[in-house]
Amino acid sequence: MTLVHHRHDGDGWVDCDCGQRHWGRFGAAGLLLVDDERGALLQHRALWSHHGGTWGVPGGARSSAETALEAALREAAEEAAVPPDAVRPSHAWVEDHGTWSYTTIVAHLADPARPVDARPADPESLDITWVPLDSVGDLPLLPAFGAMWPRILASATAELVLVVDAANVVGSRPDGWWRDRAGATARLRDELSLLSPVPAASLGLPATHWWPRIVLVAEGKARGVPSLDGVTVIDAPGSGDDAIAAAVASAVTDRPQDHVIAVTADRELRSRVDAAGGEHIGPSTLFELAGRRS
Ligand SMILES: [Zn+2]
Repeated sequence: MTLVHHRHDGDGWVDCDCGQRHWGRFGAAGLLLVDDERGALLQHRALWSHHGGTWGVPGGARSSAETALEAALREAAEEAAVPPDAVRPSHAWVEDHGTWSYTTIVAHLADPARPVDARPADPESLDITWVPLDSVGDLPLLPAFGAMWPRILASATAELVLVVDAANVVGSRPDGWWRDRAGATARLRDELSLLSPVPAASLGLPATHWWPRIVLVAEGKARGVPSLDGVTVIDAPGSGDDAIAAAVASAVTDRPQDHVIAVTADRELRSRVDAAGGEHIGPSTLFELAGRRS
């Protein structure tokens, strides 16, 4: 066991507007890792710690330089030996008190064939163990975590999948795309690769924000653009609409718990997406998520 305490400028108590004291001058964050096979990775908190003996997730104070995701991944590595690159964030719940906030990052295995070998890695844990999702509520949970658990549980295995109609989205901006369709599709792919996390409210989703998996469907002369990390490009062999409807249908069938949203303004395609069990948004909503206007 490595006994390392990593000090940083976020270590300290905050007297919060809610009347309580919380740990973390810049807020705190934790990682809830959910494995489809084993359940949730929980930390049995050391007896000397705040609410000692209860169960929660690996987590702790954010430094001034860290995002909530960075802090959660660092804490999970320090406390539970979870390799940051072995997990992929799905969505986050933010408990915002104004003067302080706690962000729970719900993450899944980056590669289901590469299970995470988690274990107590510092003295803050009595144990680090996998608990089946339907048994978590039976444990004595850290009060703040326990209060949120029913909401967290309802979406714990869900991911957000965006299936993007490249021709329709590229065509919604008169930026000269018609001169080089593959080039315009590659630029859209690059924009999409930076699209995370997205606010849940603008998509009508639970939680606070989501890191989408993105499937970009290209057709005709726009084909041949390679995939990037986080953006899978599919070349439609024939009709782009057929390929998009098929991508939505297979995503819904493979993982019914996921939120599968097509991005297209095409009305006929939207009705095919509805029939396949997906949802849809228009290109302008996508650009708003990307922090820019069409
Ligand atoms: Zn508070």
